[in-house]
Amino acid sequence: MQLDMESREEEPLQAQSQAQSHSSVLSNVRTKKDIAWEHVTQVVDEKGKKAWICNFCQKVIGGGGINRVKKHFVGVKGEVAACPKVSP
Ligand SMILES: [Zn+2]
Repeated sequence: MQLDMESREEEPLQAQSQAQSHSSVLSNVRTKKDIAWEHVTQVVDEKGKKAWICNFCQKVIGGGGINRVKKHFVGVKGEVAACPKVSP
């Protein structure tokens, strides 16, 4: 019995790595100034914390930042009392 051990060395195909540069254009359009700012007056309470007074109902919204003010406008229940002057 004869064993032919032919070890063929296959030349590795050089994979042509075509570096395709995907120039992804990220359109980062973000308005920094929120519209909610236009309807509130920022004040500082006696504790030095920032608060906002709604220009519509004069409600003082303290703590939570501008998001809390927006919740006042849109009327998120459980978070802050909805503005009676703004109807969503
Ligand atoms: Zn209000």
